Amino acid sequence: QTTHFGYQTVNKEEKVEKVAEVFHSVAAKYDLMNDLMSMGIHRVWKRHTIACSGARSGNKILDLAGGTGDLTAKFSKIVGSEGQVVLADINESMLKVGRAKLHDMGIVGNVECVQANAEALPFADNTFDVITIAFGLRNVTDKDAALRSMYRVLKPGGRLLVLEFSKPTTEALTKIYDWYSFNLLPNMGKVITNDAESYQYLAESIRMHPDQETLKGMMEEAGFEETSYQNLTGGIVALHKGYKF
Ligand code: SAM
Repeated sequence: QTTHFGYQTVNKEEKVEKVAEVFHSVAAKYDLMNDLMSMGIHRVWKRHTIACSGARSGNKILDLAGGTGDLTAKFSKIVGSEGQVVLADINESMLKVGRAKLHDMGIVGNVECVQANAEALPFADNTFDVITIAFGLRNVTDKDAALRSMYRVLKPGGRLLVLEFSKPTTEALTKIYDWYSFNLLPNMGKVITNDAESYQYLAESIRMHPDQETLKGMMEEAGFEETSYQNLTGGIVALHKGYKF
């Protein structure tokens, strides 16, 4: 299946470049677009992720592909002054917006921003109690390498949460969702950010992302145990969970 960008035929370097370009281009209006595109529902998905994270005061948490820091802001309050949240993202522009937003919210003491590639995390083994990657994994070129890297830096007993677009559970929802992503979404992107192409890319990356069972299998392959997932909003999004023992 060839897509608008020839998604399956692009090589690794091209995908890395495309992802960098897309997030550089959308960074300034990312939060606004997130609210509009999801009609605010991304906030509910993120709150649910926090609730399932088991995060506690004093924990060390990695918000990977954390972008503008929505999860980081919430975790920062939970872990308190004894804990630490690392907001890691590969994209300088997204991190810049994230850093400024956290600063404006008065969240400074227990948060560190790190530019890092999920495929080769620059942290010691067994560092984090919780790792989250929200709407990030589908943008990573080598997802297996990224999952192995997350497993390595997670502490034994720690948990990984992957919040990501997934496969709608009914035919009807799939049809509506396809229309939404391939027609409405790029048009909204065009009007608001003058950048239909980035939103076309986002829609395609969602379509190409592994479905619920495939991702669960990939997590197990990387070493995670007691893996499970929960469909949110009819499978438009899924929250995968796995542990390192
Ligand atoms: N987690 C945030 C949220 O839920 O609002 C941001 C999600 S945004 C859709 C995806 C993020 O993944 C972007 O900020 C992008 O720069 C980042 N990203 C893409 N590839 C990455 C990689 N290989 N390693 C780390 N971050 C990556």
